[in-house]
Amino acid sequence: MAKQPGKGGILYIVATPIGNLGDISPRAIGILSQVDVIAAEDTRVSRKLADRYRIDTPMIAYHDHNERRRAPELLDRLVHGEEIALISDAGTPLINDAGYHLVRLAQEHGIRVTAAPGPCAVINALSIAGLPTDRFVFEGFLPSKAAPRRRRLEALKDESRTIIAYESVHRILATLRDMVSIFDAHREAVIAREMTKKFETVKRDTLANLLAWLENEPRQQKGEFVLLVHGRPDTAPETAELQRVLTLLRAAVPLKQAVDLAAHITGASRNEVYRLALRQSRG
Ligand code: SAM
Repeated sequence: MAKQPGKGGILYIVATPIGNLGDISPRAIGILSQVDVIAAEDTRVSRKLADRYRIDTPMIAYHDHNERRRAPELLDRLVHGEEIALISDAGTPLINDAGYHLVRLAQEHGIRVTAAPGPCAVINALSIAGLPTDRFVFEGFLPSKAAPRRRRLEALKDESRTIIAYESVHRILATLRDMVSIFDAHREAVIAREMTKKFETVKRDTLANLLAWLENEPRQQKGEFVLLVHGRPDTAPETAELQRVLTLLRAAVPLKQAVDLAAHITGASRNEVYRLALRQSRG
């Protein structure tokens, strides 16, 4: 039966697996089976998922390169009462995938937009990284060219929240090298690779050790990656005071005397002050 204009359809944003085809909710399967059309990033990729769950809903291609042209066509169908599901090759649409333009357009025309939530690589990685999860920043893909990428990392150097980025096989080593040189090489970080797939690897270590490990393990350089970096640790107020005192003293007296005096003034242990002095010397 032809859909009637005026009724208004529904746009469903449906999350699909990021590797393991079992990771899709029964509700998502129901929606994909019942909608009038599935707008898929790559219909050949999504056909595999559809076949697995015996979904025979028609599919049309909707991706970054045809988004602006396709969105008005889809809007027209929604306005005529059709229900449409948007899916990407993997994970949650719009998260570094097409869909933003369509969601805005549909909302502007009073169409209901709702989601069948599910897998998303950034959240999956955060949940298994073992880094602080209470506050984080997601950078999507860092710039592919070296100079803008380094500028972006410089801007993130003092970020205290956990930093998360998607990375491709072509740039994983270059990005790690940049991180080692721009962030503290001893900063803790995580490589989450091929999550939910057969060769899933989640490795947490210092940035310097992760780079050395990856350079020596060509097999680990393949696949899909999420990079997570511990935020810059907040400096405790007492450490800030110690730093201030030590800096003043070092400008006036020899190192040993500065360490003794700073320990005496602040009540910190000599060892702690000495370690701080060494860190200051290393810049
Ligand atoms: N929309 C997707 C989501 O919800 O995560 C992300 C799409 S983005 C174009 C693809 C990137 O996500 C990959 O290059 C990789 O950085 C990350 N990614 C996706 N699946 C992954 C997996 N199974 N393991 C590690 N990273 C993955």
